[in-house]
Amino acid sequence: MARVVVITGPSGVGKGTLIRALRDRIPELELSVSATTRNPRPGEENGRDYWFLSREDFERRIADGGFVEHAEYSGNRYGTLREDLDKRTSAGRPVLLEIEVQGARQVAKTMPEALRIFIAPPSADTLRTRLVGRGTDAKEQIDRRLAVAEDELAAQPEFPVVVVNDRLEEAIDELTRVVATGIDEARP
Ligand code: 5GP
Repeated sequence: MARVVVITGPSGVGKGTLIRALRDRIPELELSVSATTRNPRPGEENGRDYWFLSREDFERRIADGGFVEHAEYSGNRYGTLREDLDKRTSAGRPVLLEIEVQGARQVAKTMPEALRIFIAPPSADTLRTRLVGRGTDAKEQIDRRLAVAEDELAAQPEFPVVVVNDRLEEAIDELTRVVATGIDEARP
């Protein structure tokens, strides 16, 4: 069975950048496409970045058991669609889930064999700097995300692997090593 890799951590920690670099190094890694009720950002495409769903559609799918995990985050819903994940794992390739902490906790229970990695900032202050610098969220959204980040940081000890994103190249090297080893161990 293909390995599932979960990457979590607070918003602004640099998960997106690390994952792009990781996929350059391990091209066989498939990215799960999550569903969300938030609006697409400029340049985001339905089916590539997310499946953008209405709240009604999202809630219907929860009731139908359509999600492997789901969470409410900063006023919107996010979740991993069972159908999307099954399609990707059945192709036999390792699949990466980039999700927030509540969802990662659910995965620990429902898919204990998944490799769970927490990306931590070198300090809490770096999150604000990165969220402001990224320029994708309004100030109100940034404040909301930082409030959530405090709780998310507290969850760090629940994760078997923690990668601190201080120097980017070092973090990429460490993440690549952990994921490559995890995938190899899962090979039949
Ligand atoms: P963003 O709105 O910045 O794309 O994502 C906000 C947060 O939702 C990020 O921490 C991201 O990792 C998380 N997220 C994205 N997809 C999922 C998902 O399918 N499930 C859960 N639980 N969180 C997700």
